[in-house]
Amino acid sequence: MGVTISGIALPTRTPVSFAVDGQRLRASASSTPDSLWLLPGLVDVHSHPGMESPGDAYSHDVFRRHMLAHRSAGVLTVRSPGSPDPVLDRPDDPDLPRLTRSGRWLATPGRFFPGYGRRVSEEELPAAAVSEAAAGWCKVIGDWMPDDPPVPLDVLTATVDAVHAVGARVAVHCQTAEGCRNAVLAGADSLEHGLHLDHSLLPRMAAQGTAFVPTFSAFAKTISNLTSSGDARLREWIVTGWEHAFPTVRAAHEAGVTVLAGTDNKPCGDVAGEIAWLIKAGMPVEAAVGAGSWIAREWLGLPGLVDGGLADVVAYDTDPTEDPSALTRPSRIVLRGNVVR
Ligand SMILES: [Zn+2]
Repeated sequence: MGVTISGIALPTRTPVSFAVDGQRLRASASSTPDSLWLLPGLVDVHSHPGMESPGDAYSHDVFRRHMLAHRSAGVLTVRSPGSPDPVLDRPDDPDLPRLTRSGRWLATPGRFFPGYGRRVSEEELPAAAVSEAAAGWCKVIGDWMPDDPPVPLDVLTATVDAVHAVGARVAVHCQTAEGCRNAVLAGADSLEHGLHLDHSLLPRMAAQGTAFVPTFSAFAKTISNLTSSGDARLREWIVTGWEHAFPTVRAAHEAGVTVLAGTDNKPCGDVAGEIAWLIKAGMPVEAAVGAGSWIAREWLGLPGLVDGGLADVVAYDTDPTEDPSALTRPSRIVLRGNVVR
């Protein structure tokens, strides 16, 4: 007897029954569905498995531990927007969640943690981005400190165009208003953080399909660690950006921008916490859960709970679109057809 799983599939709310056939789901008409709510797994679109803190070298043991923490939380897909791991063609480990790689962080002079990431000149950025995007994505550090200039618009546009020309996508780290503006005008595929994003850019983001990953979880930690010592200007910039992020997320959702759940935080496995922040910002619960599940999977090109789809399923006893706290209590987890729980 093979693995079967049945229940109410979200977001369609249709009763489904699947037999697991290798790594695929096959619709089976047989049983009366269990009273479970089924998601095609959770997704964290901004996690850096393999290093604990910025500046750390890549460790494969740490990577496995981080990915297993994701898996036990029902996070079956992870996008890693920047890694210290220079290996682009490492095969997927079948025990671990699906991984979308973005190569190494691409950092131009004066931007990013000193000495960290792949350091390139602005002139070299487009070609370097193409080489880092071999696995489908690259990650550009578009700006850094509040009063420093972002990557110039012409450089960022040339970079995005070059990466798109080879069929890959570009994630841009941006936190200043100007950095966010350049990322949108350059046609980036995702804005990571977007702390001081001007709302007038939201219709353009929606029209061109630029997603927004606000990473509340990371900033919540930053805010809680702020002390009265240190750079007052930096502190004020972070606090005003944090306060601005809540109405921005709500306005982005209402403008039709794809808002996605990415934690950029440790420990791994808490995308449910990020979904809770999206709800706090005013996203409807169902959209916020989708931002960390089916919407994110579709955005990454992965199918949902359909006949012939990938055998990635997480089941809950309670409907998480009614009670999102249920996301922390998965009752069954199936990854690549293997029963994890
Ligand atoms: Zn990050």
